[in-house]
Amino acid sequence: MQFEFDAVGQAIQEAARRFADEKLLPYYQSREAVDHFDRDLLKEMGDLGLVAPDLPEEYGGIGASGLTQGAVIEEIGRGDLNIAYIQLLGSLIGGVIAQFASKDLATEYLPKLAAGELIPSLGLTEPRGGTDAANLQLRARKDGGDWIIDGEKASISCANQADFVLVAARTGEINEGARGITAFLIDLNAPGVSRSNYNDLGSISVGRGSIWFDSVRVPDTRRVGDVGMGFIRVMQGFDYSRALIALQCLGSARASIDETWSYITDREAFGGPLAQFQGVTFPLAEADAQVRAARLLAYECLWLRDQGKPHTKEAAMVKWMGPKISVDAIHQCLLTHGHLGYSRDLPHQQRLRDVMGLEIGDGTAQVSKMIVARETVGRVAIQYAKK
Ligand SMILES: Cc1cc2nc3c(=O)[nH]c(=O)nc-3n(C[C@H](O)[C@H](O)[C@H](O)COP(=O)(O)OP(=O)(O)OC[C@H]3O[C@@H](n4cnc5c(N)ncnc54)[C@H](O)[C@@H]3O)c2cc1C
Repeated sequence: MQFEFDAVGQAIQEAARRFADEKLLPYYQSREAVDHFDRDLLKEMGDLGLVAPDLPEEYGGIGASGLTQGAVIEEIGRGDLNIAYIQLLGSLIGGVIAQFASKDLATEYLPKLAAGELIPSLGLTEPRGGTDAANLQLRARKDGGDWIIDGEKASISCANQADFVLVAARTGEINEGARGITAFLIDLNAPGVSRSNYNDLGSISVGRGSIWFDSVRVPDTRRVGDVGMGFIRVMQGFDYSRALIALQCLGSARASIDETWSYITDREAFGGPLAQFQGVTFPLAEADAQVRAARLLAYECLWLRDQGKPHTKEAAMVKWMGPKISVDAIHQCLLTHGHLGYSRDLPHQQRLRDVMGLEIGDGTAQVSKMIVARETVGRVAIQYAKK
Protein backbone atom coordinates (compact mmCIF):
# COMPACT_ATOMS: atom_id res chain seq x y z
CA MET A 1 0.00 0.00 0.00
CA GLN A 2 1.19 3.46 -0.88
CA PHE A 3 -0.63 6.47 0.57
CA GLU A 4 1.98 9.04 -0.47
CA PHE A 5 0.46 11.88 -2.54
CA ASP A 6 2.02 13.07 -5.75
CA ALA A 7 2.86 16.78 -6.15
CA VAL A 8 -0.64 17.62 -7.39
CA GLY A 9 -2.28 15.69 -4.53
CA GLN A 10 -0.05 17.47 -2.00
CA ALA A 11 -0.91 20.88 -3.46
CA ILE A 12 -4.66 20.15 -3.31
CA GLN A 13 -4.39 18.87 0.26
CA GLU A 14 -2.45 21.98 1.26
CA ALA A 15 -5.07 24.24 -0.39
CA ALA A 16 -7.86 22.38 1.44
CA ARG A 17 -5.99 22.72 4.76
CA ARG A 18 -5.52 26.46 4.27
CA PHE A 19 -9.15 26.93 3.24
CA ALA A 20 -10.30 24.99 6.32
CA ASP A 21 -8.08 26.99 8.69
CA GLU A 22 -8.91 30.40 7.25
CA LYS A 23 -12.48 30.16 5.95
CA LEU A 24 -14.19 27.28 7.75
CA LEU A 25 -12.97 26.52 11.27
CA PRO A 26 -13.33 30.07 12.69
CA TYR A 27 -16.96 30.34 11.47
CA TYR A 28 -18.15 26.75 11.97
CA GLN A 29 -20.44 27.63 14.87
CA SER A 30 -21.86 30.82 13.40
CA ARG A 31 -22.85 28.91 10.25
CA GLU A 32 -25.27 26.86 12.37
CA ALA A 33 -27.59 29.86 12.55
CA VAL A 34 -28.56 29.47 8.88
CA ASP A 35 -30.30 26.50 7.24
CA HIS A 36 -28.43 26.76 3.94
CA PHE A 37 -24.92 27.21 2.60
CA ASP A 38 -23.30 30.47 1.59
CA ARG A 39 -23.18 30.08 -2.20
CA ASP A 40 -20.21 32.44 -2.51
CA LEU A 41 -18.20 30.23 -0.16
CA LEU A 42 -19.01 27.17 -2.30
CA LYS A 43 -17.90 29.03 -5.43
CA GLU A 44 -14.67 29.96 -3.69
CA MET A 45 -14.07 26.26 -3.00
CA GLY A 46 -14.91 25.54 -6.63
CA ASP A 47 -12.44 28.17 -7.88
CA LEU A 48 -9.73 26.48 -5.80
CA GLY A 49 -10.60 23.12 -7.36
CA LEU A 50 -11.73 21.75 -3.99
CA VAL A 51 -15.25 20.57 -4.80
CA ALA A 52 -14.75 17.59 -7.09
CA PRO A 53 -11.12 17.28 -8.18
CA ASP A 54 -11.81 13.58 -8.78
CA LEU A 55 -14.08 14.31 -11.78
CA PRO A 56 -12.52 13.95 -15.23
CA GLU A 57 -11.00 17.11 -16.72
CA GLU A 58 -13.68 17.36 -19.41
CA TYR A 59 -16.23 17.76 -16.60
CA GLY A 60 -14.39 20.35 -14.52
CA GLY A 61 -12.23 18.12 -12.30
CA ILE A 62 -8.59 17.17 -12.71
CA GLY A 63 -9.07 13.40 -12.61
CA ALA A 64 -7.58 13.30 -9.09
CA SER A 65 -7.42 10.00 -7.21
CA GLY A 66 -9.89 8.92 -4.55
CA LEU A 67 -7.01 9.27 -2.05
CA THR A 68 -6.69 12.94 -2.97
CA GLN A 69 -10.41 13.56 -2.60
CA GLY A 70 -10.20 11.72 0.75
CA ALA A 71 -7.54 14.18 1.91
CA VAL A 72 -9.69 17.11 0.75
CA ILE A 73 -12.82 15.93 2.54
CA GLU A 74 -10.85 15.17 5.72
CA GLU A 75 -9.48 18.73 5.77
CA ILE A 76 -12.81 20.36 4.88
CA GLY A 77 -14.54 18.14 7.47
CA ARG A 78 -12.01 19.31 10.05
CA GLY A 79 -13.04 22.88 9.30
CA ASP A 80 -16.79 22.26 8.98
CA LEU A 81 -18.32 18.81 8.62
CA ASN A 82 -21.38 20.31 6.96
CA ILE A 83 -19.55 22.11 4.17
CA ALA A 84 -17.88 18.76 3.42
CA TYR A 85 -21.29 17.42 2.31
CA ILE A 86 -20.52 19.34 -0.89
CA GLN A 87 -17.46 17.15 -1.58
CA LEU A 88 -19.32 14.03 -0.48
CA LEU A 89 -22.36 14.61 -2.69
CA GLY A 90 -20.21 15.95 -5.52
CA SER A 91 -18.03 12.84 -5.62
CA LEU A 92 -20.86 10.33 -5.20
CA ILE A 93 -23.41 11.90 -7.53
CA GLY A 94 -20.88 13.46 -9.92
CA GLY A 95 -19.12 10.11 -10.25
CA VAL A 96 -22.34 8.27 -11.16
CA ILE A 97 -23.32 10.98 -13.68
CA ALA A 98 -19.82 11.10 -15.24
CA GLN A 99 -19.85 7.33 -15.74
CA PHE A 100 -23.42 6.58 -16.71
CA ALA A 101 -25.24 9.70 -17.97
CA SER A 102 -25.12 10.80 -21.61
CA LYS A 103 -22.20 13.05 -22.49
CA ASP A 104 -24.59 15.95 -23.12
CA LEU A 105 -26.20 15.63 -19.70
CA ALA A 106 -22.86 15.28 -17.91
CA THR A 107 -21.50 18.31 -19.78
CA GLU A 108 -24.56 20.36 -18.84
CA TYR A 109 -24.29 19.71 -15.07
CA LEU A 110 -20.85 18.55 -13.96
CA PRO A 111 -18.63 21.57 -14.74
CA LYS A 112 -21.07 23.74 -12.75
CA LEU A 113 -21.08 21.21 -9.91
CA ALA A 114 -17.25 21.22 -9.83
CA ALA A 115 -17.29 25.03 -9.87
CA GLY A 116 -19.45 25.08 -6.73
CA GLU A 117 -22.30 26.68 -8.69
CA LEU A 118 -24.76 23.77 -8.44
CA ILE A 119 -25.62 21.79 -5.32
CA PRO A 120 -26.50 18.16 -6.03
CA SER A 121 -28.66 15.81 -3.96
CA LEU A 122 -29.32 12.09 -3.90
CA GLY A 123 -32.88 10.75 -3.70
CA LEU A 124 -32.87 7.15 -2.54
CA THR A 125 -34.58 6.94 0.88
CA GLU A 126 -38.38 6.98 1.10
CA PRO A 127 -40.76 7.55 4.03
CA ARG A 128 -41.27 3.80 4.53
CA GLY A 129 -37.56 3.13 5.05
CA GLY A 130 -33.98 3.51 3.93
CA THR A 131 -32.19 0.32 4.99
CA ASP A 132 -34.33 -1.81 2.69
CA ALA A 133 -33.59 0.71 -0.05
CA ALA A 134 -34.17 -1.63 -3.01
CA ASN A 135 -37.82 -1.88 -1.96
CA LEU A 136 -38.55 1.68 -3.03
CA GLN A 137 -41.91 2.82 -4.41
CA LEU A 138 -41.47 6.20 -6.11
CA ARG A 139 -42.75 5.58 -9.65
CA ALA A 140 -41.52 6.59 -13.08
CA ARG A 141 -43.83 5.65 -15.99
CA LYS A 142 -43.08 6.15 -19.65
CA ASP A 143 -45.10 8.72 -21.58
CA GLY A 144 -43.85 9.02 -25.15
CA GLY A 145 -40.26 10.28 -25.00
CA ASP A 146 -40.68 11.39 -21.38
CA TRP A 147 -41.07 9.83 -17.95
CA ILE A 148 -43.65 10.94 -15.40
CA ILE A 149 -42.39 10.81 -11.81
CA ASP A 150 -44.73 10.48 -8.80
CA GLY A 151 -43.87 9.93 -5.15
CA GLU A 152 -41.82 11.15 -2.20
CA LYS A 153 -38.17 10.91 -1.29
CA ALA A 154 -37.43 11.40 2.41
CA SER A 155 -34.37 12.38 4.43
CA ILE A 156 -32.52 13.98 1.52
CA SER A 157 -29.40 15.99 2.37
CA CYS A 158 -29.65 19.52 0.93
CA ALA A 159 -33.30 18.93 -0.06
CA ASN A 160 -34.10 22.55 0.77
CA GLN A 161 -31.34 24.07 -1.34
CA ALA A 162 -30.11 21.58 -3.96
CA ASP A 163 -30.38 22.49 -7.63
CA PHE A 164 -30.89 18.97 -8.88
CA VAL A 165 -31.44 15.46 -7.56
CA LEU A 166 -30.30 12.07 -8.77
CA VAL A 167 -33.43 10.05 -8.11
CA ALA A 168 -33.84 6.29 -7.95
CA ALA A 169 -37.32 5.48 -9.28
CA ARG A 170 -39.23 2.26 -9.83
CA THR A 171 -39.72 1.62 -13.53
CA GLY A 172 -40.33 -2.13 -13.21
CA GLU A 173 -42.45 -4.22 -10.88
CA ILE A 174 -41.96 -4.26 -7.09
CA ASN A 175 -40.99 -7.94 -7.15
CA GLU A 176 -38.08 -7.10 -9.47
CA GLY A 177 -36.33 -5.48 -6.47
CA ALA A 178 -33.12 -3.66 -7.32
CA ARG A 179 -33.40 -4.65 -11.03
CA GLY A 180 -36.59 -2.65 -11.51
CA ILE A 181 -35.10 0.72 -10.54
CA THR A 182 -33.87 3.46 -12.88
CA ALA A 183 -31.95 6.66 -12.07
CA PHE A 184 -32.94 10.12 -13.36
CA LEU A 185 -31.39 13.54 -13.01
CA ILE A 186 -34.21 15.95 -12.13
CA ASP A 187 -34.01 19.71 -11.95
CA LEU A 188 -35.48 20.74 -8.60
CA ASN A 189 -37.08 23.84 -10.10
CA ALA A 190 -39.17 21.67 -12.44
CA PRO A 191 -42.98 22.03 -12.24
CA GLY A 192 -44.50 19.54 -9.79
CA VAL A 193 -41.50 19.44 -7.40
CA SER A 194 -41.93 20.62 -3.80
CA ARG A 195 -39.69 20.24 -0.75
CA SER A 196 -39.52 20.53 3.02
CA ASN A 197 -36.82 21.14 5.61
CA TYR A 198 -36.59 18.90 8.71
CA ASN A 199 -36.11 20.22 12.22
CA ASP A 200 -32.81 18.39 12.74
CA LEU A 201 -30.58 17.87 15.75
CA GLY A 202 -27.50 18.95 13.83
CA SER A 203 -26.10 19.74 10.38
CA ILE A 204 -28.58 22.61 10.18
CA SER A 205 -26.84 24.28 7.23
CA VAL A 206 -27.19 21.07 5.18
CA GLY A 207 -30.98 21.35 5.18
CA ARG A 208 -32.17 17.72 5.18
CA GLY A 209 -35.75 17.27 4.05
CA SER A 210 -38.31 15.56 1.83
CA ILE A 211 -38.83 16.08 -1.88
CA TRP A 212 -42.24 15.43 -3.48
CA PHE A 213 -42.75 14.71 -7.16
CA ASP A 214 -46.27 15.34 -8.43
CA SER A 215 -46.46 14.17 -12.07
CA VAL A 216 -43.04 15.65 -12.81
CA ARG A 217 -42.22 15.30 -16.52
CA VAL A 218 -38.63 14.23 -17.21
CA PRO A 219 -37.24 13.71 -20.72
CA ASP A 220 -35.62 10.32 -21.38
CA THR A 221 -32.38 12.21 -22.06
CA ARG A 222 -32.20 12.76 -18.28
CA ARG A 223 -32.09 9.07 -17.53
CA VAL A 224 -28.75 8.12 -15.92
CA GLY A 225 -27.68 4.65 -17.03
CA ASP A 226 -29.82 1.90 -18.48
CA VAL A 227 -33.42 1.24 -17.50
CA GLY A 228 -33.42 -1.08 -14.48
CA MET A 229 -29.78 -0.36 -13.56
CA GLY A 230 -30.25 2.79 -11.45
CA PHE A 231 -30.07 1.22 -8.01
CA ILE A 232 -27.05 -0.86 -8.88
CA ARG A 233 -25.15 2.16 -10.24
CA VAL A 234 -25.90 4.32 -7.19
CA MET A 235 -24.92 1.51 -4.81
CA GLN A 236 -21.60 1.11 -6.63
CA GLY A 237 -20.92 4.77 -5.82
CA PHE A 238 -21.54 4.04 -2.12
CA ASP A 239 -18.32 2.05 -1.80
CA TYR A 240 -16.57 5.33 -2.53
CA SER A 241 -18.80 7.67 -0.52
CA ARG A 242 -18.58 5.48 2.59
CA ALA A 243 -14.83 5.95 2.86
CA LEU A 244 -15.27 9.68 2.23
CA ILE A 245 -17.92 9.94 4.97
CA ALA A 246 -15.55 8.28 7.41
CA LEU A 247 -12.85 10.85 6.65
CA GLN A 248 -15.38 13.70 6.81
CA CYS A 249 -16.27 12.60 10.37
CA LEU A 250 -12.72 11.77 11.43
CA GLY A 251 -11.60 15.22 10.26
CA SER A 252 -14.21 16.74 12.56
CA ALA A 253 -13.02 14.54 15.44
CA ARG A 254 -9.43 15.57 14.71
CA ALA A 255 -10.38 19.22 15.24
CA SER A 256 -11.86 18.44 18.67
CA ILE A 257 -8.88 16.27 19.66
CA ASP A 258 -6.32 18.92 18.65
CA GLU A 259 -8.23 21.60 20.54
CA THR A 260 -8.47 19.36 23.61
CA TRP A 261 -4.73 18.49 23.72
CA SER A 262 -4.11 22.21 23.68
CA TYR A 263 -6.77 22.91 26.34
CA ILE A 264 -5.33 20.44 28.88
CA THR A 265 -1.93 22.07 28.74
CA ASP A 266 -3.49 25.45 29.66
CA ARG A 267 -6.23 24.57 32.11
CA GLU A 268 -5.02 24.01 35.66
CA ALA A 269 -6.26 21.93 38.60
CA PHE A 270 -4.51 20.93 41.83
CA GLY A 271 -1.66 23.33 41.14
CA GLY A 272 -0.74 22.32 37.61
CA PRO A 273 -2.01 21.71 34.08
CA LEU A 274 -4.65 19.02 33.52
CA ALA A 275 -2.12 17.32 31.25
CA GLN A 276 -0.24 16.07 34.31
CA PHE A 277 -3.08 13.64 35.11
CA GLN A 278 -3.12 10.33 33.31
CA GLY A 279 -6.86 10.18 33.97
CA VAL A 280 -7.08 13.14 31.58
CA THR A 281 -4.43 12.20 29.00
CA PHE A 282 -5.17 8.45 28.62
CA PRO A 283 -8.73 8.80 27.26
CA LEU A 284 -7.46 11.43 24.87
CA ALA A 285 -4.54 9.24 23.80
CA GLU A 286 -7.00 6.41 23.13
CA ALA A 287 -9.29 8.65 21.09
CA ASP A 288 -6.34 10.00 19.12
CA ALA A 289 -5.10 6.47 18.33
CA GLN A 290 -8.57 5.22 17.34
CA VAL A 291 -9.17 8.17 15.03
CA ARG A 292 -5.80 7.57 13.42
CA ALA A 293 -6.45 3.84 12.94
CA ALA A 294 -9.88 4.41 11.36
CA ARG A 295 -8.38 7.07 9.11
CA LEU A 296 -5.82 4.56 7.83
CA LEU A 297 -8.60 2.06 7.06
CA ALA A 298 -10.42 4.77 5.09
CA TYR A 299 -7.29 5.55 3.09
CA GLU A 300 -6.67 1.83 2.51
CA CYS A 301 -10.22 1.60 1.11
CA LEU A 302 -9.59 4.56 -1.22
CA TRP A 303 -6.24 3.16 -2.28
CA LEU A 304 -7.89 -0.18 -3.16
CA ARG A 305 -10.52 1.71 -5.16
CA ASP A 306 -7.87 3.71 -7.00
CA GLN A 307 -6.10 0.43 -7.88
CA GLY A 308 -9.35 -1.00 -9.25
CA LYS A 309 -9.38 -3.64 -6.49
CA PRO A 310 -12.44 -4.81 -4.52
CA HIS A 311 -13.13 -2.55 -1.52
CA THR A 312 -16.77 -3.12 -0.57
CA LYS A 313 -15.84 -4.78 2.73
CA GLU A 314 -13.39 -2.05 3.75
CA ALA A 315 -15.93 0.63 2.79
CA ALA A 316 -18.61 -0.97 4.98
CA MET A 317 -16.17 -1.44 7.89
CA VAL A 318 -15.07 2.17 7.87
CA LYS A 319 -18.60 3.55 7.29
CA TRP A 320 -19.48 2.06 10.65
CA MET A 321 -16.17 2.73 12.45
CA GLY A 322 -15.45 6.24 11.16
CA PRO A 323 -18.57 7.99 12.47
CA LYS A 324 -18.73 5.84 15.64
CA ILE A 325 -15.12 6.48 16.64
CA SER A 326 -15.58 10.17 15.82
CA VAL A 327 -18.70 10.44 18.01
CA ASP A 328 -16.88 8.73 20.91
CA ALA A 329 -13.77 10.89 20.49
CA ILE A 330 -15.73 14.15 20.33
CA HIS A 331 -17.79 13.10 23.35
CA GLN A 332 -14.55 12.51 25.27
CA CYS A 333 -13.27 15.95 24.21
CA LEU A 334 -16.51 17.55 25.40
CA LEU A 335 -16.17 15.86 28.81
CA THR A 336 -12.52 16.84 29.09
CA HIS A 337 -13.61 20.49 28.83
CA GLY A 338 -15.75 20.04 31.94
CA HIS A 339 -18.69 22.43 32.34
CA LEU A 340 -17.35 24.59 29.52
CA GLY A 341 -17.68 21.64 27.13
CA TYR A 342 -21.40 21.42 27.84
CA SER A 343 -21.88 24.99 26.68
CA ARG A 344 -22.90 25.95 23.17
CA ASP A 345 -20.01 28.42 23.27
CA LEU A 346 -17.61 25.59 22.42
CA PRO A 347 -17.85 23.59 19.19
CA HIS A 348 -17.71 20.03 20.60
CA GLN A 349 -21.45 19.76 21.22
CA GLN A 350 -22.12 20.89 17.64
CA ARG A 351 -19.60 18.45 16.20
CA LEU A 352 -21.19 15.67 18.26
CA ARG A 353 -24.65 16.50 16.88
CA ASP A 354 -23.37 16.92 13.33
CA VAL A 355 -21.27 13.73 13.20
CA MET A 356 -24.05 11.64 14.75
CA GLY A 357 -26.17 12.17 11.63
CA LEU A 358 -23.62 10.30 9.59
CA GLU A 359 -23.91 7.27 11.86
CA ILE A 360 -27.25 6.94 10.03
CA GLY A 361 -26.90 8.70 6.67
CA ASP A 362 -25.67 6.49 3.80
CA GLY A 363 -26.33 3.35 5.88
CA THR A 364 -26.42 2.54 9.59
CA ALA A 365 -23.91 0.50 11.59
CA GLN A 366 -26.17 -2.54 11.27
CA VAL A 367 -26.34 -2.47 7.49
CA SER A 368 -22.58 -1.87 7.34
CA LYS A 369 -21.92 -4.94 9.47
CA MET A 370 -24.36 -6.96 7.35
CA ILE A 371 -22.27 -6.04 4.30
CA VAL A 372 -19.04 -7.00 6.08
CA ALA A 373 -20.59 -10.40 6.94
CA ARG A 374 -21.93 -10.88 3.39
CA GLU A 375 -18.57 -10.01 1.87
CA THR A 376 -16.88 -12.49 4.22
CA VAL A 377 -19.16 -15.54 4.34
CA GLY A 378 -21.41 -14.90 1.34
CA ARG A 379 -25.14 -14.41 0.95
CA VAL A 380 -25.90 -16.86 3.75
CA ALA A 381 -25.35 -13.82 5.98
CA ILE A 382 -28.49 -12.12 4.56
CA GLN A 383 -30.77 -15.11 3.95
CA TYR A 384 -33.65 -13.32 5.67
CA ALA A 385 -33.98 -11.15 2.58
CA LYS A 386 -35.43 -14.09 0.64
CA LYS A 387 -38.18 -14.87 3.16
C1 LIG B 1 -27.89 13.05 8.29
C2 LIG B 1 -28.58 12.17 7.29
C3 LIG B 1 -28.40 12.42 5.93
C4 LIG B 1 -29.05 11.61 4.98
N1 LIG B 1 -28.93 11.91 3.66
C5 LIG B 1 -29.59 11.17 2.73
C6 LIG B 1 -29.54 11.52 1.35
O1 LIG B 1 -28.90 12.50 0.94
N2 LIG B 1 -30.24 10.77 0.47
C7 LIG B 1 -30.97 9.66 0.86
O2 LIG B 1 -31.56 9.01 0.01
N3 LIG B 1 -31.04 9.32 2.17
C8 LIG B 1 -30.38 10.04 3.11
N4 LIG B 1 -30.46 9.72 4.45
C9 LIG B 1 -31.29 8.58 4.85
C10 LIG B 1 -30.46 7.40 5.33
O3 LIG B 1 -29.73 6.82 4.27
C11 LIG B 1 -31.41 6.42 6.02
O4 LIG B 1 -31.88 7.09 7.17
C12 LIG B 1 -30.72 5.13 6.40
O5 LIG B 1 -30.47 4.36 5.26
C13 LIG B 1 -31.60 4.29 7.36
O6 LIG B 1 -32.91 4.19 6.91
P1 LIG B 1 -34.12 4.57 7.90
O7 LIG B 1 -33.77 5.84 8.55
O8 LIG B 1 -35.37 4.52 7.11
O9 LIG B 1 -34.10 3.45 8.99
P2 LIG B 1 -34.82 2.02 8.91
O10 LIG B 1 -34.47 1.38 7.62
O11 LIG B 1 -36.25 2.18 9.23
O12 LIG B 1 -34.08 1.29 10.10
C14 LIG B 1 -34.33 1.65 11.46
C15 LIG B 1 -33.32 0.93 12.35
O13 LIG B 1 -33.43 -0.48 12.15
C16 LIG B 1 -32.19 -1.02 11.75
N5 LIG B 1 -32.39 -2.09 10.76
C17 LIG B 1 -33.17 -2.07 9.65
N6 LIG B 1 -33.10 -3.23 9.01
C18 LIG B 1 -32.25 -4.02 9.72
C19 LIG B 1 -31.76 -5.36 9.58
N7 LIG B 1 -32.09 -6.13 8.54
N8 LIG B 1 -30.90 -5.83 10.51
C20 LIG B 1 -30.53 -5.05 11.57
N9 LIG B 1 -30.96 -3.80 11.75
C21 LIG B 1 -31.80 -3.29 10.84
C22 LIG B 1 -31.41 0.15 11.13
O14 LIG B 1 -30.02 -0.07 11.22
C23 LIG B 1 -31.89 1.31 12.00
O15 LIG B 1 -31.11 1.38 13.17
C24 LIG B 1 -29.85 10.53 5.42
C25 LIG B 1 -30.01 10.29 6.78
C26 LIG B 1 -29.41 11.10 7.72
C27 LIG B 1 -29.65 10.85 9.18
